Amino acid sequence: MGLALGLLLVLQQPPVILDGHIDTPQRMLDMRTDISARLSDGHIDVPRMKEGGLTAAFFSIWVDARYRRAGAFQRALDLIAAVRALADTDPQVELATTADEVRGAAARGHVAALLGVEGGHAIENSLERLDSLYRLGVRYMTLTWNNGNDWAGASMDPRRSGGLSPFGKQVVRRMNELGMLVDVSHVSDATFWDVIAVTTRPVIASHSACRALARHPRNLSDAQLRALARTGGVVGINFYPVFLDDRFRREYERLRARLKPETDAIHARYQDRPGESAFAVDRLVGERVAAELAVPGIERLVAHIDHAVQVMGVDHVGLGSDFDGISVLPAPMKDVTSLPLVVAALRARGYSDDDVRKILGENFLRVLSAPG
Ligand SMILES: [Zn+2]
Repeated sequence: MGLALGLLLVLQQPPVILDGHIDTPQRMLDMRTDISARLSDGHIDVPRMKEGGLTAAFFSIWVDARYRRAGAFQRALDLIAAVRALADTDPQVELATTADEVRGAAARGHVAALLGVEGGHAIENSLERLDSLYRLGVRYMTLTWNNGNDWAGASMDPRRSGGLSPFGKQVVRRMNELGMLVDVSHVSDATFWDVIAVTTRPVIASHSACRALARHPRNLSDAQLRALARTGGVVGINFYPVFLDDRFRREYERLRARLKPETDAIHARYQDRPGESAFAVDRLVGERVAAELAVPGIERLVAHIDHAVQVMGVDHVGLGSDFDGISVLPAPMKDVTSLPLVVAALRARGYSDDDVRKILGENFLRVLSAPG
């Protein structure tokens, strides 16, 4: 299984593989899961990251919508502390905030943990709190999660789907000044275009796919992909089959509707531990999907990567798996150790070594080191 990447590693400098978005911190915090050791479940732990060749990842500081009214900033701080504790206690893990730090960690054979906040409600409408997050090492912020907030609209929130408020524009400008990347995954189309109008720095979509191939509102249109490329930014293609294939999405949504009594019961059971409830729901749904549905394969993921490359150019496409945040992966992937299959599929598609390196990590490293 590791043969293709193994060969790549032997023949040349190991590529830096950087994942734009993994959702592991919630289980590290809520379930006290130690990812230094190999786990029997989930998609990510340090031994499996190393086995899969994943050098670096943005650990998502995902703030659930339930904290919208109170506690959002503290929730972000607690998640950040959980990632920092991993870097402090596991000699194989280094906290990174720059491309050089990622390359340094890679050269030492270590894993680089980057921090990205998901859900702008985390700053509780305060630029000072935004600054604090930057000082703690956060290098991108996804302006919304599925919920819109007071200053930005979300693609999945019918009550708040408009664009940036005047304060929202200030947030984008302040992020530009700090050198914190603006992440437009999850935002509404109106917010997307407002960001493009305001930003002076490269914009990323840390974990999104292509609307031309699958019409999910979380995905980006070709016009949006082109606009992102014009800022110098990068889209990390999401691995979630629900975003990759409309037919699968319809079947999946029917299955989720059937499972609603069971998933509601899980949410009720883990009321104060959103990480644990999300993880338990994903596990249940994942088992049922595997038993009942035909899951799109890696070639469907690569089709989205390929489409983004056609539309944006190869300098603007990366990986944004959503590992540990999604219930199912493209077949036959099982976790991060399956990444060599994606690398092999890209090479089979005819991408050169240089282009493969760009997609795997160099493009994200470029925007991480973009001059202010
Ligand atoms: Zn997300």
